[in-house]
Amino acid sequence: MSSILIRDSYVLMADYTTKVADIAIKDNEILAVGDIPADFKADRVISGKDHFAVPGFVNGHTHASMTLLRSYGDDMELMDWLNNRIWPTEAKMVEEDIRVGGELAVLEMIKSGTTAYADMYGPHMESVAELTIKAGIRGILARGAIGLFPAGRQVLEDNVKLYESYNGAGDGLITIMMGVHAPYTCPPEFCEYARELAGKHDIPIHIHMNETQSEISQITEKYGKRPFKYIEDTGLFDLPSIAAHCVWLDDEDIAIMKKHNVSAIHNPGSNMKLASGVSPVPRLLNEGINVALGTDGASSNNNLDMLEEIRLAAMLHKVNELDPLAVPAKIALQMGTENGAKALGLDKVGKITAGYKADIVLYDLNRAEWCPRHDLVSLLVYSANSASVDTVICNGKMLMEKGNVLTMDEERIIKEAQRVAMDLVNR
Ligand SMILES: [Zn+2]
Repeated sequence: MSSILIRDSYVLMADYTTKVADIAIKDNEILAVGDIPADFKADRVISGKDHFAVPGFVNGHTHASMTLLRSYGDDMELMDWLNNRIWPTEAKMVEEDIRVGGELAVLEMIKSGTTAYADMYGPHMESVAELTIKAGIRGILARGAIGLFPAGRQVLEDNVKLYESYNGAGDGLITIMMGVHAPYTCPPEFCEYARELAGKHDIPIHIHMNETQSEISQITEKYGKRPFKYIEDTGLFDLPSIAAHCVWLDDEDIAIMKKHNVSAIHNPGSNMKLASGVSPVPRLLNEGINVALGTDGASSNNNLDMLEEIRLAAMLHKVNELDPLAVPAKIALQMGTENGAKALGLDKVGKITAGYKADIVLYDLNRAEWCPRHDLVSLLVYSANSASVDTVICNGKMLMEKGNVLTMDEERIIKEAQRVAMDLVNR
C-alpha cells in the first residue's frame, strides 16, 4: 500500500466548517488532518493549494448499466416508459452491454466526484463487481428482482450467489445487497422468499418505495394496505433496508420507516423529470430518518452527477416549502456524503477525519464559479459544477489526477458504449 500527503488544501471538516490543512493518508485510511505526525513519510505529496478537499460522494441509488439507455425514451409516463421502452430493451441485454454500460457509469461517477454507489441491476453483476474493483470505487451491488417475471425467484437466488462470491471483495470495495424491485412488481410470497434468502446471511435490502401515486393506489386496492405496511408485513424491513424515492408518504409510512430504521434515498432529479412528486424530505429529516441521495438510472435523470443531485435537493425543497431556509447547503451535502454511507452500511466513510476511509475529492478553485471564496460549502452546492473535480482518491488510491482518470480508459469506454448502445436498441 501507499501513503499520500495532501498539502495546504481547504478541507471540509467533519463539522462542515472549512480550514486550510494538510491531510495524511496511510494505506486506505486518513491518518491525520492538520497535525501530521512528525514521522509520517509520504510516497506521494500533492499540492492542495487552491483546492477544496471534500469527502467522495455516495450515490445511494442508481442502475449503472442503464447509461446505455440514456436519452432513449424521455418525456414519457413512468409505466409507459418501463413497459414499452426500458423493460423490452433490458431483456435483450447481454454481458457486454452490462459491462460497458457499467464502465460508462463508473467513469462518469469518478469524473463527478463519486466514490461509492448503490447499484440495482443485472444480470451479470459479477462483471459490474469486477469493473468496479478495477476502477477502484465502492460498489454496493444488488440484482433488481422482479417477482412478476418468470425468472424472478432465480434472480433472488443469483443475488445470494453474488453475495457469497463478492461481498467484501476488492479489499472491501464491494458489498452486496438484496434487490427487491418494488411492491408493485413483487407479490407477497415473492417478498417473503426474498426475506427468507436474505435473512440467512443478513443481506441488507434495496427496494423502490412509494415513487408514484398510482402504485400506492394499486397496492392499496389489491391488498387493502399501503406499500410500506405491505412490505413490513413480508418481514423485509426486519433487515437493514434502503428505500429509493419515498415520494408519497403518510404518517403510518413514516412511522414504519422510523420503527425499522429504513433509510430514504431521495432522487430529486428523477422525481422531477418523471413528475413523480416531491418527497417530504424536510419532514423526514425532522423525524430523524436517515435521508441520503441518489441519481437513479441515467435514463431517468439523465446523468450520474451527485453534485447536481445535491444542488437539486437544496433547491427543490426551498421552492416546494416556499422557505429559503429549507434543506441548507450543509444538509444537502451531508445527505450526499455521510448519510449515504450510513444508509449503505459503509463503515467510517463520508467524512474527512482521522480513522475514516480515504475517499477524498479535490476541487480546483482556480475557476470563475469558485470566486470569491466567502463560503466554500455554499460555492460547492450552489455555484460549482463537476468540471472542477481535479483529483479523486478512493480507499487511499489515486483514481483521478488533474482531470485524468488513471484507472479507466476514458476514450475506449465512450467509443465502446456508443457502439454497444446502438447495437442494443437495433437488436
Ligand atoms: Zn430506481
